[in-house]
Amino acid sequence: MSLPPSTGDAPICSARGCRAPAEWALRWNNPRLHTADRRKTWLACADHRASLGDFLDARGFLREVAPLAGSPTLDG
Ligand SMILES: [Zn+2]
Repeated sequence: MSLPPSTGDAPICSARGCRAPAEWALRWNNPRLHTADRRKTWLACADHRASLGDFLDARGFLREVAPLAGSPTLDG
């Protein structure tokens, strides 16, 4: 097995076992654990945005999905 490519400090997908760079931030809140204005963030790659989003949405936790800003080392 080869080592995964270095991503520097780029954010990585939160899905279990996934090492892909995150492209989306899923902001969620569990009202049983968190105050109403609290936001937890899961990061998701393109492949996992739907599955992580569905997981949260099915529980009524999902509040918003926002695209992550691009890498600051890439211009435009
Ligand atoms: Zn992923």
